[in-house]
Amino acid sequence: MQIVETIAEVRRAVGKAKAEVKKVGLAPTMGAFHAGHIELMRTARRECGFVIVSVFVNPAQFAPSDDFGRYPRDLEADAEIAKTESVDLIFAPSATEIYPEGFDTYVEVGKLGRILEGASRPGHFRGVATVVAKLFGIVSPDTAYFGMKDYQQLRVIQKMVSDLDFALEIVPCPTVREPDGLAMSSRNAYLSKDERAAAVVLYRALEFAEERARAGERNAEALRSEAQRLIESDPLACVDYVAVVDPETLEPVERVGESVVIALAVRIGDTRLIDNTLIEVGG
Ligand code: AMP
Repeated sequence: MQIVETIAEVRRAVGKAKAEVKKVGLAPTMGAFHAGHIELMRTARRECGFVIVSVFVNPAQFAPSDDFGRYPRDLEADAEIAKTESVDLIFAPSATEIYPEGFDTYVEVGKLGRILEGASRPGHFRGVATVVAKLFGIVSPDTAYFGMKDYQQLRVIQKMVSDLDFALEIVPCPTVREPDGLAMSSRNAYLSKDERAAAVVLYRALEFAEERARAGERNAEALRSEAQRLIESDPLACVDYVAVVDPETLEPVERVGESVVIALAVRIGDTRLIDNTLIEVGG
């Protein structure tokens, strides 16, 4: 496995892979690998002849008050994991490799970027879309792998690919969870023991809403408010939002149709966690 830091080295490796008629797959990450990242690597490995994982804690998607400074970074441990998963290349650029002096072009995300996470974190998806567009330009992958854990991010990237005519396929990968249901996240490392125990309330709320929908509840606001109440019953949890939305547009729905996404963001102590579930009840 190669570990490279420059765009030129990535392009050289990709050029060689393409000359060998290998399908190139990219999984963009911020590192601190867990089973969610491994799911992306394994899916890419199954589908592609050349697998690239990028590791870049992207300053453009963090607000000044966000956790950019304390975000976990451990390239050595990540490299070990990626090697075990037979990844071909890790691209771990510096901030100046991606944003050299004078960098001044951004991808402006529309409506999809302004709601939910975008409303709570203005500019977040502009930063995400910009770095992902750059990674697509650097790697020219045939396929790129994104986790459904970050459902809105997945939709923003799918929309960007469609609107800006990127010639690649986006492959969504299912959310990987801890045995108690907590979605794997690099940010789970911030949680104290008590907070970790409380964090399972996000999954419980999703599970509860899914059960209610499957039992025939079609009133989206009833689902939403019951899920929110369940989370608020935990003294360590503070709801940022709970939303029942259309899986395509991420606009709130009134009635639960064939499929809806329940998306939520909750603060557990100082740690902000997000989770979601796609519910398909078939009308
Ligand atoms: P991150 O390093 O947190 O930016 O995540 C990199 C990629 O891994 C994104 O496409 C995420 O959606 C995906 N990912 C993160 N956590 C999970 C998870 N628990 N299950 C599946 N995919 C995940």
